[in-house]
Amino acid sequence: MDSRLTTDELVARTGETADRLLRWRELGLLARDVEGTDWRADDFDRVRLIQYAERRGVVADEIAAARETQGDVLGRYVTMSRGPRTRRITALDSAARRADLDQRVALRVWSAAGRRDEPDLDDDDVATLRNVRSALATGLPEEAVLQLVRVYADALGRVAEAECRLFHYYVHDRLKSEGLAGAELVAATDAAAERLFAMIEPAIVYFHRKAWARALRDDMILHLVDEGGAAPSSAPGEEQISILFVDLAQFTPLTEVMGDATAAEVVDRFSDIVRDAASRHEGRVLKQIGDAFMLVFRDAAEAVACALETDRLAALEHEFPALRFGVHSGRALYREGDYVGASVNVAARVLDAAERHQVLVTAAVRDQASDVSELTFRLLEVRALKGMAEPVELYEVQRSTERPARAVDPVCGMQLDVGRARARLRWHDRELMFCSDNCLRQFVATPERYRIGS
Ligand SMILES: [Zn+2]
Repeated sequence: MDSRLTTDELVARTGETADRLLRWRELGLLARDVEGTDWRADDFDRVRLIQYAERRGVVADEIAAARETQGDVLGRYVTMSRGPRTRRITALDSAARRADLDQRVALRVWSAAGRRDEPDLDDDDVATLRNVRSALATGLPEEAVLQLVRVYADALGRVAEAECRLFHYYVHDRLKSEGLAGAELVAATDAAAERLFAMIEPAIVYFHRKAWARALRDDMILHLVDEGGAAPSSAPGEEQISILFVDLAQFTPLTEVMGDATAAEVVDRFSDIVRDAASRHEGRVLKQIGDAFMLVFRDAAEAVACALETDRLAALEHEFPALRFGVHSGRALYREGDYVGASVNVAARVLDAAERHQVLVTAAVRDQASDVSELTFRLLEVRALKGMAEPVELYEVQRSTERPARAVDPVCGMQLDVGRARARLRWHDRELMFCSDNCLRQFVATPERYRIGS
């Protein structure tokens, strides 16, 4: 696409009418400096962006209006989003042919990558389809290749989105709130973007290398265990793991009373605590859903130790909610960087059964961790868990160490350092403590809504 395009070519490639293209040129959205009927190479990308904007409800006139205050928005996105210019645009079927890859497989790869909305493939895409063909030729089955494609697309999609959003909220919006506007705001944003964007790809390579080294270390253990004569798994990717779920015991009331911003700040602190404890106990944070974390461990005793460590670290915090924990060990299938199977569901149900500060485990965990002398398990009950056919024996892990004295704010559930509570109230011969005047006021207004713990 180095050369210019004729109107017919641009119409054919974009599906737009010549009239609409000419109108966009009049609005200044496409190149004006071209003589006759030719169009510039990047007009193709500009048309795609206008089409995308229109699908999102922003019409061409609005983009043209934005030019007045923000400059050439389209041009900036074309420049920033296009890597090296390797632009020979093809459709998926011809790209698959060029890569010598089966059409059906190419379509599945394109779906797995989440790019069915992008009909234009360029040389980079063809090279990637060739890589897929090479991977298949080494003997990696199609299902495994597709899993890998999904992991790349999801993980790096999240990376790219975070880069753009965080830049927008913390750089662009801040410059705006400092009073910059118009050309000045554009210039300041662009200058910051240029410096930051230069760091992105080196950072991705760096973090991938570090994670790769950790994954290899874990893989080495898999080899050592396999060579030790363990029975081969019946399904590919089946592994023996211990799963720990942890969440904040009273997150919903906390969010309601304290608001989203405070709740998000609590989750950030919680995230740091969980990651800190996981790295000390050979665990990996697999995912986070709101205020709940799922972690995996090779060793059941480490999973329990990690739960206790997380609870200990959280107890040291002032103004922090109580945590609860559920641990289960069993076999699960490794899929797309995640684990799937009944064992995962059991662990999640064990968490549901836990009260504040409780570390609940199943008999499988107790059996595997029972030789650790610091750990003692108390049989709580044999309980029917939601969705489980058989009742499950639940054990509470007993702690040897005392938790620091903490008062609990009855409104938001935050645990308070007794000396640092911001509000107090004498209530039926008790002294209640609150994190804020706001919680105190809420309590006084409707005391019957809140349960006062012992
Ligand atoms: Zn409170």
